[in-house]
Formats: sequence, C-alpha cells, structure tokens
Amino acid sequence: MIRTLALICCDCKQEFTPKDKIYYRDNFLSKDIKDAQLICDTCIAKWQEKWKISKADFQEKDYVLRVTITLENGTVLENLDCTPLETTVITEEEMPLGAQEKLYEYYVQWDTARKEKVLKDCIFEDAFMRTTVTCTTYGGEHYENMAIRFNMKGELETEQEVPDYIRNQIAEAFKLYEAQNID
Ligand SMILES: [Zn+2]
Repeated sequence: MIRTLALICCDCKQEFTPKDKIYYRDNFLSKDIKDAQLICDTCIAKWQEKWKISKADFQEKDYVLRVTITLENGTVLENLDCTPLETTVITEEEMPLGAQEKLYEYYVQWDTARKEKVLKDCIFEDAFMRTTVTCTTYGGEHYENMAIRFNMKGELETEQEVPDYIRNQIAEAFKLYEAQNID
C-alpha cells in the first residue's frame, strides 16, 4: 500500500517543503513514519540562531558538573546538569552540535584554569625540629623547601606567604603524610 505523508512541522504546525533534507526529532516511541516529529527549515534556522552562546560558567559540586549558559539573545539558562563527551558538552537542552562544541571550548578553558591551582606534587621532608615542603601546581607555581608548622590553633603557617588555595592543599596533604608515617 502506498500512502502519503503531509510534511507538517511539529514545532510551528505549518506545512512545509524541505530543501535538501528533512529534520526530525528522535522519538523512540514512534513506530510509524506518520508519528515522526518533523521540523521545518525555518524552525531549525530559528533554533540555530537562538543557540549562540556568549558565556558559559561551569561549576562542580559533589562531583556533579553544572553550567549556566548565557545566549546572545540575553536568555540565561541556569545550572543545567551537563556532561563533557569527546568534543562536546551535553546538557538536558536540545541544542545544535555547534553549540555543544562551543560549550566544550568553554569547558576546557574552565577545566584548565581550575587545574592550574591544583598541586601536582607535594613532598615533605622532616629534619630536626623542622618540616619543609616542596610543591608545584599544574600552573607552574613552585615552592622549594619551605618550612611549615601548625600553630596552636591548628592552622598551617608557612615560611613564605602563600595563597589560601596552596595553604589548604598543603594542609590536606600533610594530614595524609602524617597518617602514613604514624608508625
Ligand atoms: Zn516549523
């Protein structure tokens, strides 16, 4: 039996004539071609126009990665769950591949910046009455044989002035170091 299928866009509900290909939305429930969710070229163009990302702020909390996206049209989508995948970042929003790739560029920038402040090594040395640390961040900040001690309040004091993110990491690493050397 030969049947016909009217090309009606599921977004704007208008009948349309496709140019070189037909866009449709994945719909795992549809078993029949007439259930296909077709989308017209005009709606696709609008969709692509909408997804021009001007800013993306990532944050990670309790191992969940989220992103707040600002579009060129001013729309802000807050705290979307997201997952980096190969060269894209996938969110719950339906967005063009180009936008997912753009999001990945923002992700790499953010990920690199946060790693810069992370210590890639941190070595302690105990001498008589003196403990020193030698440490380096991924970004290249380096402290060599810097004397450290914990004051009466349990706060880490360092021979040189160091940023809080360095101080906190040294303190954490030292707890592990002490735990390993307890015997
Ligand atoms: Zn349409």
